[in-house]
Amino acid sequence: MNKIYLDNAATTPLSEEVIDAMIDTMKMNFGNPSSTHSFGQEAKILIENVRRQVADYLHVTPAEIIFTSCGTESNNMIIKSSVEHLGVERIISSPMEHKCVSESILDMKNRKGVEVAYIRPNEKGDINLNKLEELLKGSDKKTLVSLMHANNEIGNIVDIKKIAQICKENNALFHSDTVQTMAHMNLDFSDIPVDFASCSAHKFHGPKGIGFAFIRKSSGLKGIITGGPQERSLRAGTENVAGIAGLGKALELSLNNMEAYTQHMQDIKQYTIDRVAAEIPGVKFNGRSSEAENSLYTVVSLLLPYKNPLIGLQLDMKGIAVSQGSACSSGASKPSMVMMMVLSEDEMDNGTPLRVSFSHKTNKNEIDAFVDALKEISKDFVIENTNVEHR
Ligand code: PLP
Repeated sequence: MNKIYLDNAATTPLSEEVIDAMIDTMKMNFGNPSSTHSFGQEAKILIENVRRQVADYLHVTPAEIIFTSCGTESNNMIIKSSVEHLGVERIISSPMEHKCVSESILDMKNRKGVEVAYIRPNEKGDINLNKLEELLKGSDKKTLVSLMHANNEIGNIVDIKKIAQICKENNALFHSDTVQTMAHMNLDFSDIPVDFASCSAHKFHGPKGIGFAFIRKSSGLKGIITGGPQERSLRAGTENVAGIAGLGKALELSLNNMEAYTQHMQDIKQYTIDRVAAEIPGVKFNGRSSEAENSLYTVVSLLLPYKNPLIGLQLDMKGIAVSQGSACSSGASKPSMVMMMVLSEDEMDNGTPLRVSFSHKTNKNEIDAFVDALKEISKDFVIENTNVEHR
């Protein structure tokens, strides 16, 4: 069976060039970057070159890039260290954040007594920035705002520049989980006054187990993993040199091809929307995922007009991989918080959310096969209520 992968928001396949760069590094650059001899120094140079490459992409200084094991670690570090080392007493966030952010915030609330305020999004998944301003002006407590750049389940993109400016005007720190947008969009942090951001290489055809945190130098954030002086003492532990080489190669490929990749995925996304809308009567699109603006070109979130908790499995049996939620919550029996925010109770009870996510490797034949399979499965369901009001 020819398998089709449409779950690229969960992870992406490694590029051949990335695999080659990593193998070369593992063979040639096995030294410990902390060693002072030439083996160590060669590995150290490789790391610093990638750090410079990342810094150039974001228009920041290399000292502001700290390599970590993943997006989860970066987000944990930023949120927990803001509380433990920067005196943050209050966190403003939304219920739509990735679990690694929401659970870190909850941990700080439970263990450190941090006050937490959530801005409830509207039915499109939009965050009301007037509400953010109102909350910021309503307290003198040292505050961290944590709002993701793009949502991994419905694809909504927020205006991080505007949010960063509001935070600056109100003396709050601003963290944005940028895991779904890093290397997919141009990001200029000399123009966007964000304090902290995160990245995970496996979201753009790099390896798992490597990412980085952007930590604005002026913030004074410290690390939470203690030990040796690696990563300017912000993240102890011998560096994942091959992973860093892979991240660097994946970033290089993304940046060199960004225009072509963006165009291709926008086309694929529109094609998917058009075909699904034409072939599945009553289907809806969650959040802003059917829009070209303010939505990731990698993600379409559907609501099928019938209840079928087995849809993911049935598509998988036909060789098609999609997600019924995000990878991190799909094993759970509870509906995801994001879906609870953007769907009505009626839609939750009578519909089935499905996330389809693309990469530059996705082609229209794969989308055709997905839509045909979805049509075939949908035939078995009586579509009773296609007029459910979408909220
Ligand atoms: N943040 C977002 C928005 C994500 O989509 C993910 C991964 O799904 C993460 C954080 C966690 O990244 P990692 O898998 O590198 O821990």
